[in-house]
Amino acid sequence: MALDPPTMLTITIALAAAAALYLAIEWRSVREPSLLFWSAGFATITVGCTLALLRSSGLLLIGIWFANGLLVTAHWLFLLGVGRFTQTQLSRGWYLVFVVWLALLVVPEEPQWSKLMLLVNSLLVALLALKASALLRPHGKSLSVGAVQLRYVLLMHGLFYVAKAITAVVPGTLIDLAAFRGQIIQISLVEGAMAIMLIALSMTGTERYRREKRIARLAARDPLTALYNRRALEVRAPRLLEDVSATRPGALLLIDIDNFKLVNDLFGHSAGDRLLVDLSEMIRAVLPTGALAARLGGDEFVILLNNAPTERILALGGALREQFRQAAAQLFPTPAPVTLSIGANLFDQPPGSLTALIEQSDSALYASKRGGRDSIRVVDRTAAAGEPLHTP
Ligand code: GH3
Ligand code: MG
Repeated sequence: MALDPPTMLTITIALAAAAALYLAIEWRSVREPSLLFWSAGFATITVGCTLALLRSSGLLLIGIWFANGLLVTAHWLFLLGVGRFTQTQLSRGWYLVFVVWLALLVVPEEPQWSKLMLLVNSLLVALLALKASALLRPHGKSLSVGAVQLRYVLLMHGLFYVAKAITAVVPGTLIDLAAFRGQIIQISLVEGAMAIMLIALSMTGTERYRREKRIARLAARDPLTALYNRRALEVRAPRLLEDVSATRPGALLLIDIDNFKLVNDLFGHSAGDRLLVDLSEMIRAVLPTGALAARLGGDEFVILLNNAPTERILALGGALREQFRQAAAQLFPTPAPVTLSIGANLFDQPPGSLTALIEQSDSALYASKRGGRDSIRVVDRTAAAGEPLHTP
């Protein structure tokens, strides 16, 4: 079967309709506005290509000028979608594209009508595609794999249209839009079909990758404090722990609020929540670079560090306890003081497991609770260890 231009155009209509439907279905489950813009763009291409078929019936204004205008509109919708995706406000100047399109109406029909139409339409499409590609540049933050794909597909598509515009001005090129004659038109139809598939696939990819990243981020965080949860700590701890050595001892601090229930009982659950968030912020503020912090659950938190000699751990624990005691006393005065108990475990060899480390710190924490709370107990398992330390 010869792929004559009307057949190619029919295939393009089917592909664009499928892409519009695919993106609309994706939008129904994700509700990201960019998907709706992109779906509308492909629907516009479907209509535009259907109208383009009317050229053979002699309807040149609708079949060429209007149909090409819809192609430009589709790329304008793609750009709007990318603007939404990258949260970029587009300047009103982009509406000028439609002014240029309308201006084409007054171009006299002969002799260079076809060439001028092709030149201007190609430049408009190229401009819109290249701008959309430029918006997807990383701008300091890393892009998802899908967004990188879309950026390059739009770049290639835009460059193709620049090349198409150049061929239009090369003397002697045969371009007959009415009869679909001329090599550039044939090549363009093939590129169009390919571009639809690549653009639509990378558009769904952009949102999907971003969604997956967001879900992974949420799954790793405690929703109240946004610190890592236990599972995320378990995933990240091994890398930190394998770095532990005699010269770079590690430490795990298990922190539990003393008499926290009093805050809940006397000031309400949301006051308790507020104190948990305050404590998480204090932990973040004292956390050395490379260390990990997590909320294990309830009022229990963990700090995991390497390169942490005993003095540093005692200083860190002391600063945290002091800061918390003052803040809690000021915000929520209670009959018994709301303070911090800390069980710390120091080691100079990579431990068997994180769970084992937490259990050892837990016994130190229990000792602190039993000893009257508001203290740090240290279990020192390093070679240089002396007696267990206890600082009230
Ligand atoms: P202790 O001094 O022995 O540590 O006693 P405590 O009063 O601090 O209570 P405990 O550590 O045994 O229990 C923690 C309490 O924290 C139990 C629960 O009511 C409360 N809690 C757990 N999760 C949350 C939360 O997300 N928000 C609030 N407001 N309270 C919580
Ligand atoms: Mg407690």
